[in-house]
Amino acid sequence: VVTLFPDMFNAITQHGVTGKANKNNIFKLSIWNPRDFTQDNYRTVDDSPYGGGPGMVMWVDPIIACVEKIQKKIEVRHRKLKSSGKKPKSLIVIFNAGGEMFSNTTAQKVAHGYTDIIFICGRYEGIDARVKKILKAKEWSIGGYVLTGGELPAMVCVDAIARQIKGVLHDELSLEEKR
Ligand code: SAM
Repeated sequence: VVTLFPDMFNAITQHGVTGKANKNNIFKLSIWNPRDFTQDNYRTVDDSPYGGGPGMVMWVDPIIACVEKIQKKIEVRHRKLKSSGKKPKSLIVIFNAGGEMFSNTTAQKVAHGYTDIIFICGRYEGIDARVKKILKAKEWSIGGYVLTGGELPAMVCVDAIARQIKGVLHDELSLEEKR
C-alpha cells in the first residue's frame, strides 16, 4: 500500500482476523510512504494538477519512484515463485471515487488471480493523472461518495480480499455471502 498515512493501517495489521493472518504470513501487507521518495528538504508530495484544475494533487514523481522500488521487490519474489512452478501476477490499483465499483466478485477474482497487488491511496484533490497512465493502473471506488483519502478504501479492499485467501478465516464456510 502506498500512503502518506502509514499508521492508519495499524487498524488492519494489528487487530482481528487480518492482523492475525498478516502476522502469520498468510498474506503480507507492506506499507510504503511516497514522502520517503522525495528529493527536496521539504519532502514535497503535492503539486498543482498536470493540465490544470483546482487545488493540489499527489505529485507524480515520488509515487513513481516509490512504485518502482516496490516493483523491484516484487520481481525478486516473482523469480522465486516461478522457480517453484507458480505463476506470479501483479496488479496496480489507484483509488478514485469515480472508478470501477469494488465488489465481493472483484475481491474473489483478485484474491485468486494475483500474487501481488499495489494499492495507491490518494489525498488532496486526488492523484496526478499521469500516474494511472505510466503505471497502467486500474481505478477502484468503494462507493458513490467522496472521502478525504484512499486509506479507508484500501483497508476495505485489503480486508475483503484477505478473507478470500485460504487460511485467513477460521471457518471457510463463513466465506459464503449472506444477505
Ligand atoms: N477531487 C476528487 C473528486 O472530486 O472525486 C476527490 C479526491 S478525494 C478528496 C482524495 C482521495 O480519496 C482520492 O484521490 C481517492 O484516492 C480517495 N477516495 C475518496 N473517495 C473515494 C471512494 N469513494 N472510493 C475510492 N477512493 C476514494
